[in-house]
Amino acid sequence: MPLYIYRHVEENPDCEREREFRWQQPAQDWPLTKCPWCEAPVTRVISPALLKIKKFDCELKDQGFTKLVRVDEGVFENRTRRKGEDKYVDRHRPETFPILEKTIKD
Ligand SMILES: [Zn+2]
Repeated sequence: MPLYIYRHVEENPDCEREREFRWQQPAQDWPLTKCPWCEAPVTRVISPALLKIKKFDCELKDQGFTKLVRVDEGVFENRTRRKGEDKYVDRHRPETFPILEKTIKD
């Protein structure tokens, strides 16, 4: 499920969340209009920074690179995941490693 960034239209000091907060929801769902915590109006923020990173990862993938980003001890997110590859690479599970033969064939 994608993670979205929402922003309170007006700052609400009573809300337990920051003015901007992350919210995970299915891509096909309507955007939230109210904050789930304080019910004040919110708008969905499209983060240009995030879009840029995504685009950059796609370019890397097109150029045949593999990019792994460490998310935990011995666990990496495969940002250039190709068909048949796992999203997360676990140092102790070789079956989750990127499939190089596939990259070479591409
Ligand atoms: Zn709120």
